[in-house]
Amino acid sequence: MSPDIALNHSQRGWTCTFTRVFVIALSVTFVATAAAQEPPNRPNVILIFADDLGYGDLSCYGHPTIRTPHLDRMAAEGLRFTQFYSAGIVCTPSRAALMTGRHAVRSGLSEESPRVLFPDSGGGLPESELTIAELLKQANYDTACVGKWHLGHLPQFLPTNQGFDRYLGLPYSNDMDRVPTSPKGLQAFLDPRSDYWNVPLMRDTKIVERPADQTTLTKRYAEEAVGFINEHKLGDKPFLLYLAHTMPHVPLFRSREFENVSRRGLYGDVVEEVDWSVGQVLDTLRETGLAENTLVWFTSDNGPWIVKGLQGGSAGLLRDGKGSTFEGGVREPGIAWWPGTVKPGVTTELGSTLDILPTACAMAGVELPKDRKYDGYDLSSLLKNGEASPRHEMFYYRGQDVFAVRQGPWKAHFTTQIGYGGQPEKHDPPVLYNVELDPSETTNMAKDHPDIIARLTDLAEQQKKTIEKVPSQLAIKLPE
Ligand code: MG
Repeated sequence: MSPDIALNHSQRGWTCTFTRVFVIALSVTFVATAAAQEPPNRPNVILIFADDLGYGDLSCYGHPTIRTPHLDRMAAEGLRFTQFYSAGIVCTPSRAALMTGRHAVRSGLSEESPRVLFPDSGGGLPESELTIAELLKQANYDTACVGKWHLGHLPQFLPTNQGFDRYLGLPYSNDMDRVPTSPKGLQAFLDPRSDYWNVPLMRDTKIVERPADQTTLTKRYAEEAVGFINEHKLGDKPFLLYLAHTMPHVPLFRSREFENVSRRGLYGDVVEEVDWSVGQVLDTLRETGLAENTLVWFTSDNGPWIVKGLQGGSAGLLRDGKGSTFEGGVREPGIAWWPGTVKPGVTTELGSTLDILPTACAMAGVELPKDRKYDGYDLSSLLKNGEASPRHEMFYYRGQDVFAVRQGPWKAHFTTQIGYGGQPEKHDPPVLYNVELDPSETTNMAKDHPDIIARLTDLAEQQKKTIEKVPSQLAIKLPE
């Protein structure tokens, strides 16, 4: 009952009005007390993260031959972003940003060389960083990490020491630990066998299989995810599930059921199995009745590894791919799904993996710590009501350097370099593209827009001032 109702009835006499106001006041007090005592309705959160999947690799993003019916349905029922950005051009910095809501340069995990962690690395995500799992723990979430971690394989860096109750997966990329006797060069990737790479499968902090049978990884990750969801079917405790697929990062593996099913060949088979896995997760949510209280995000860590030829994916109409600060390196499929809460549709508003942590925390009623700088925004009102995104800019890091910055439709490249190979090329004035008019970044419009260049240059300089120098985690090597 609103105060308006009491006012409307006030003509009946002051006694009546007084009684109503008194009742309203009592009701308000009761509601406020109840709100203080009961925890907020905290949604479950599931992050599904593909590895090296390109902007153009799903049917709902225009791929002509890869079939992704489950992701297409997720997109139709949820919100599909056309301008969703990962915050890293390769695995490790991208994952650091997703887990912390902060650019990886803030945690010492963004360098030009090495660009990612390796089996001989001694570093990882510092314990001083707060992951999305650690923050949601404050709201009593159960937390599971399934899949590729790649934020440090030593015990202190593993998911189980970063807020996750449990972990099953590979601690780093599936093309590491190459066995010296495996076929030379690209040959091993064309007809891959699991024993060519001695990568470990870990449960919590222990290696349970080595080399991991990579043909069954996608299936086993799905089973683990489904089991975890089913454990929560009573809905009495909220959960966070981070499902980070090893695929479709090369070497490409799929289970027997997905051999030769796709007209896109091996890469298509692998993506179609990842799509099947998404279907397993969403079907389990529907069957358990948890769908209406679960936010699911699907995206990828970085663009397609196009230098791998047919083994790599597609960035669609975007330029370049993994390893590059052109759009193909970082713009990703991005789908948010929560039946009854996320407003279905397609949005051209900006979003980023950096925004997932602040959005999830806002929905869970967890306040972000004030002692550090966050680079993400709460996208709740965009997701729920289709309102404008609070994100208007994106910074494109390569190593510790801001290679490019986007604000609105404009993107200025201060330095460019192809994803793999080549040399960095500095630009003064920067190269300027309107990436809404020209998403393929073909036509430099710098000479007609000095004012926009000045504004974007200033934005990049302001951003750099917020970065504190921290020790490089990527430079630390294990003792020989
Ligand atoms: Mg990757």
